[in-house]
Amino acid sequence: MSEVLVLVDHVDGAVKRSTFELLTLAARLGTPAAVFIGAADAGARVAEAVRAYGAQRVHVVDDAPIKGYLVAPTAEALAQLARQVEPAAILIPSGAEGKEVAGRLSVKLDSGLITDAIDVTEDGAAVQSAFAGNYTLTGRVTKGTPIITVKPNSVAPVEAAGAGTVVPFAAHISDAARTAQIVATQPRQATGRPELTEAAIIVSGGRGTGGDFTAVEALADELGAAVGASRAAVDSGWKPHTFQVGQTGKVVSPQLYVANGISGAIQHRAGMQTSKTIVAVNKDEEAPIFELTDFGVVGDLHTVLPAVTEEIRRR
Ligand code: FAD
Repeated sequence: MSEVLVLVDHVDGAVKRSTFELLTLAARLGTPAAVFIGAADAGARVAEAVRAYGAQRVHVVDDAPIKGYLVAPTAEALAQLARQVEPAAILIPSGAEGKEVAGRLSVKLDSGLITDAIDVTEDGAAVQSAFAGNYTLTGRVTKGTPIITVKPNSVAPVEAAGAGTVVPFAAHISDAARTAQIVATQPRQATGRPELTEAAIIVSGGRGTGGDFTAVEALADELGAAVGASRAAVDSGWKPHTFQVGQTGKVVSPQLYVANGISGAIQHRAGMQTSKTIVAVNKDEEAPIFELTDFGVVGDLHTVLPAVTEEIRRR
């Protein structure tokens, strides 16, 4: 069976959950194989992590010559590896960076690309969600090696024993790919909460909070959730832009999304409509967010949320 390459999403060799999800999907299409682009000496640690989710091979590309550059060298390395391995498909996590890598890779391999999938079927089709989650669209790449980016939290990762054999790959990075360099990076302020795009649960607040996120944050902490915000809350200066969910913020797809004091404008929906379960608390029973919700509570969030948090604590 051909390999299905999964680009490992990691921070300094610490593998993110999205990688395990992609390996689970890769097993449906062929032999799961991870591609780790990072410090060569972290290869064994990464292999240990990904073999537990079925990775038979771990292609390790030493990033020493490309560290500090933006995504073009990653696409170049992946393209060279793909030409050698001839995989059945390439799966990439659907972040801003992943989608740029995928786009560049698709040009290099002259292959079709589907972005923001929420599932991949056994016959290689990709499922996307459209129109506020009201439609699912199933599509297939018809040219070259299918390249599919998949949103985090789309599937539950399934543990499966893989060999995790480390295979070093020497990529030849051209000067043309080294055109954009990172000049500074700033670590995210430590909040003790999960990262918004990675979180399985998100509790968000909008203009309806009136700027008081105490109840939103207390519920988030009780659930081990990330905190999100609507643009109205961000524009009011109540939360930084890194918290914004939506068309001009982050696109999230958690298992549970709790929208509090958020009306459900189309631009907000664009960022959260593929969440598995959506709950809203809004004092206006006509609020459009209720068109999307699995469970809705009509009420004041400053009363409802503390009661819910208290009840969860009690249990
Ligand atoms: P509102 O629409 O003002 O809704 C507040 C809600 O809170 C109301 O439904 C009200 O009933 C309820 N409420 C009030 N008080 C309470 C209370 N005490 N308890 C419970 N409920 C209460 N928006 C985004 O979110 N993300 C984006 O990325 C984004 N990008 C945009 C891009 C463009 C180009 C444009 C034009 C707009 C964009 N917007 C985005 C803005 C979007 O159109 C809305 O204006 C915004 O989402 C509204 O935020 P909100 O729901 O918090 O506020």
